[in-house]
Amino acid sequence: MSAAAFVLAINLFIAGIFATAFGVVAAYARSAVGARWLALAYGLGMVNPVLEFMLPGQLDPRPVGLAIFATFLFAISLCVVGLSRHYRLAPPWRTLGLIVAVSLAVNVAIIDMPRASLLRGLLYQLPYFLVQLVGVAVIVRYRHRQALDMALLVLFAVGGLQFVSKPVLAAMLGSGATPQAYIGSTYAAISQSLGAMLLIANGLLMLLIIVRDAMAEITARSETDTLSGLLNRRGFEDRADRLLATTLRAGVPGAMVVADLDHFKAINDSHGHEAGDLVIRAFAEVLEATADERAVVGRLGGEEFAVFIPGANMATARLYAEGARVGFSSLSIANLGPDRRVSASFGVAQLRAGDSLSDLLRRTDAALYEAKKSGRDRVCIAGPEELPPRLAPPRSERRRGSRSPQA
Ligand code: GH3
Ligand code: MG
Ligand code: MG
Repeated sequence: MSAAAFVLAINLFIAGIFATAFGVVAAYARSAVGARWLALAYGLGMVNPVLEFMLPGQLDPRPVGLAIFATFLFAISLCVVGLSRHYRLAPPWRTLGLIVAVSLAVNVAIIDMPRASLLRGLLYQLPYFLVQLVGVAVIVRYRHRQALDMALLVLFAVGGLQFVSKPVLAAMLGSGATPQAYIGSTYAAISQSLGAMLLIANGLLMLLIIVRDAMAEITARSETDTLSGLLNRRGFEDRADRLLATTLRAGVPGAMVVADLDHFKAINDSHGHEAGDLVIRAFAEVLEATADERAVVGRLGGEEFAVFIPGANMATARLYAEGARVGFSSLSIANLGPDRRVSASFGVAQLRAGDSLSDLLRRTDAALYEAKKSGRDRVCIAGPEELPPRLAPPRSERRRGSRSPQA
């Protein structure tokens, strides 16, 4: 067995592994819409080495030669389609179709040119280069590129250059006058080995990109509340915890606002659960629409919400809560009838040095409790004992002192 034939066998094996891997991902991750195209691409990639094995035994090698050219071109075009699908971009069907159609015609035209001809080699490899270039263009169009996508872009570019450098390499090393001679040539061994390396690198990178995005989607889904579209408790705690830590490190203020709908059980009881759901959604929209874009807004459960606002002092946070309160209570919600008003109570607390998320939430909840106790539809702020330590009065004074709120 020649070195090139050995590498061909390895290529068959690698293409099979990736076809299986993408097939499994396509079957299990419904959102991985690009994976089935990549499974198809690598499946087709498996046909290629088989045809290469068949080639030396052919009396007329031209049909199989053409099939080898076509299957590989289809396979890399399908990779570009799969990648576009994965990035939720329209696949460049027309460009790819044009490249495939023209290059098949060219390939038929050059089929009887001497194999050693540089022109033949260039015309043979040019379509592969162009398809790789289309792949680069797809990644350039994708706006949320990260390191892995950039690595794939570089790999596509290198792959493209590798294709056009092949004829030059063939001219230097000699690629054999016949297909039989080709398979035993040093050029074939190098060319097939390079192909194998690119096959592995491409497959691995695309698999990593798909797995990365599937994982990100699963995380986002597990952290989103389906009713309100806000972060759920898990998502809120995770984001707020991280943002709280960076806010404290940066030495800037921060504040927490919690809100609870008033007499919500009565709304559910008299207008039904669906109407209640509408109210929850309407409140979530008010909270989100009036929040600073850096703020983290979540539905902690039931009809209880929280907003962490980095950079906000007590006055800003209170203003936000008042705005949301007035915005919500002035809504007239269709399903509730003309005279049914809705309202919510709010608690606000300022972030203090050394606070954990639960410390801050505990103080904010106490302020919310005050708001409920003192009549609802209002904003209460955490008491003076919650002043930052350097602003707090001495302990002795505090015990005697009033509970006038700080603002
Ligand atoms: P308060 O003013 O003291 O907060 O009274 P409340 O009636 O709002 O509070 P309570 O805790 O007694 O009732 C909350 C209700 O919220 C009870 C529960 O059925 C309802 N609820 C919780 N989650 C949902 C939900 O997702 N959709 C709907 N429609 N109702 C919900
Ligand atoms: Mg309530
Ligand atoms: Mg409640």
